[in-house]
Amino acid sequence: DYSTPTVRNYELDRSQIVLSAKIGVGQFGDVYVGTYTVPISAKAKNKRSERAQNSSDAKYTVMQVAVKTCKANEDPEKTENFLAEAYIMQKFHHPHIIRLIGICSVMPIWIVMELAQLGELRAYLKANSERLTHGTLLQYCYQLSTALSYLESKKFVHRDIAARNVLVSSPTCVKLADFGLSRWVSDQSYYHSTPTVALPIKWMSPESINFRRFTTASDVWMFGVCIWEILMLGVKPFQGVKNSDVITKLENGERLPLPPNCPPRLYSLMSQCWAYEPLKRPNFKRIKETLEEILSEDDMN
Ligand code: ADP
Repeated sequence: DYSTPTVRNYELDRSQIVLSAKIGVGQFGDVYVGTYTVPISAKAKNKRSERAQNSSDAKYTVMQVAVKTCKANEDPEKTENFLAEAYIMQKFHHPHIIRLIGICSVMPIWIVMELAQLGELRAYLKANSERLTHGTLLQYCYQLSTALSYLESKKFVHRDIAARNVLVSSPTCVKLADFGLSRWVSDQSYYHSTPTVALPIKWMSPESINFRRFTTASDVWMFGVCIWEILMLGVKPFQGVKNSDVITKLENGERLPLPPNCPPRLYSLMSQCWAYEPLKRPNFKRIKETLEEILSEDDMN
């Protein structure tokens, strides 16, 4: 039940978390890298001693984590919005979605997540532009499509699919992060955005721009833009274009140009994601299958 957010079983003991360097700045507060000392449960310990009968075994494991902090701890509405992301994240278990480890719900509120060692995708693409092969970029797109196909199967609309919301775990593994804007929607319905948040116009579908309509089909449009950013090695879409001019361009049939070295089949897929009519766009399952085919063709070359 997505409407009753509880993260009770996700409560962590703050004394087991140690924050170190600041690694980012979020909408609500700073993000830190930290360590979480996880006690090995009695059950696991028993199993272990049965197997190894070795009393020198460690009684805990230490894992690196990312900790989101919230600066507006006094404002209950803000903390509720901050925690909304954790409520959403706890529903997902996927190899290409950043995992929620837990929360400290008593002030200062912390959200503890799996750490993506190599940070933001856009910065990573820019820093490694010389080294990154074509196949690797395709692999990133494919990995993200598996995560989005999973979200589609769970009827989740992310609403902010963009390279800035992708993190890098290893040189061959990217993960979708930032569920601050995602909302659960039932099959035929859609979510109307509250107009207070700054909207990512250059990533948005025409129906999202015109009617604030966000659906899985509008996520598909955004993913097309995200693929474009990846192939462009972190260049943002519609550089030098005013937000207010984007919709006119789209309605005149203009689309983001073919990135250098982009396989024609991939650009054709991106163009399908940018069909003006939402129903004409492929779903994420189809996109995933197509990317898998493009990847295997690429492997043969
Ligand atoms: P918000 O959505 O509140 O604006 P973000 O999720 O974008 O905050 O986090 C801000 C920054 O912190 C990110 O851009 C990234 O650099 C860093 N960050 C966030 N989560 C992680 C993580 N799990 N692993 C590594 N870095 C992270």
